[in-house]
Amino acid sequence: MAVSPSSISIPAELRPADGRFGSGPSKVRPEAVKALAARALDYMGTSHRRSGVRSVVGRLRAAMAELFGLGDGWEVVLGNGGSTGFWDAAAFSLIERRTQHLTFGEFSEKFSAVTAAAPHLEDPVVLTAPYGSHPVPEPADHTEIDMYALTHNETSTGVAMPLSQPQLGPTRRGDAPALVMVDATSAAGAMTWDPADVDCYYFAPQKAFAADGGLWIALCSPAAIERIERIDVSGRYKPATLDLAIAVTNSRQDQTYNTPALATILLTLETAEWMLDGGGLAWAASRSAASSGTVYGWAAERDFASPFVSDLEMRSPVVCTIDFDGVSADDMAAVLRANDIVDTEGYRKLGRNQLRIAAFPAIEPDDAEALTACIDYIVERL
Ligand SMILES: *Cc1c(COP(=O)(O)O)cnc(C)c1O
Repeated sequence: MAVSPSSISIPAELRPADGRFGSGPSKVRPEAVKALAARALDYMGTSHRRSGVRSVVGRLRAAMAELFGLGDGWEVVLGNGGSTGFWDAAAFSLIERRTQHLTFGEFSEKFSAVTAAAPHLEDPVVLTAPYGSHPVPEPADHTEIDMYALTHNETSTGVAMPLSQPQLGPTRRGDAPALVMVDATSAAGAMTWDPADVDCYYFAPQKAFAADGGLWIALCSPAAIERIERIDVSGRYKPATLDLAIAVTNSRQDQTYNTPALATILLTLETAEWMLDGGGLAWAASRSAASSGTVYGWAAERDFASPFVSDLEMRSPVVCTIDFDGVSADDMAAVLRANDIVDTEGYRKLGRNQLRIAAFPAIEPDDAEALTACIDYIVERL
């Protein structure tokens, strides 16, 4: 670039109070970190098999059930390995024979590669859509497809999809129903959904839950639990760390199979309780909608910027992908970074002149507005 990033200094009054706009790991609320520090002596560094930690895990499970309005028989299951680890666990413990994947970006593609490589599963059916849009599931007989793998929000492209897919209804009834599993890693806590449409809603808490990585949380319907138990007695080989039957047993006792990151668990609980105190999932989602609405609205008004996702229905309320014209997005991100506004870089593999701006609930809508003013300030000077 012609000018060095640090030669443009954004005035303090324009800057957001908090400059973290990354899509994951994402902004952790300072209040949550303080709450963690307050538990430095009686929680951190204590046994995850004792009541101190187990009571926090218990509160986390209860908070998740309340936040997402889970009905009778649903279970909140936890384990180590993040969402990527959960894909492997699902391949061993949740998918019977063959999955239909909807792929429309990096993360959904990665999961389809997992089931394609699993020697005990049949080759998946993969439905794709061009980046910037999403495919729609196609109902198949349950003897053909026993799992539909959806992604609530494709973090790499900024595309969100509705989980209500009425055409799948008939496949989800009967003795051997097909299941719907949803990668909600960047959507959980930031987008509303109806548990009636889903059997397994899983995520890691370093995105919309403003915590840290390493953990997976899976909200499992009675049908998903039944599937896990059926595969468990089928005799299929499962590594213990990827065995969801073991994870369910441990979760019921407010534990994990092996040692979890205690800080991640407490930070996740802090966010979940903050959301509940604020008014629940709809309230949290409204914060994301306010921030992303500001960013998209601003981009639509500028000659040099436009939302990458043209279909309004598919445009993510939590991860805004904004294309730039006539100004380098990489230069923009570099100047922002030099001014302590970080992680706005676009997703590399998408290969566009783009910024990616998170609008998770923990981000203040005023800060999203301030970010747009900062970008205007930079464009005038680049
Ligand atoms: C970040 C992300 C993942 C991977 O999460 P890890 O916890 O790093 O394994 C998977 N899916 C989606 C949609 C994501 O955004």
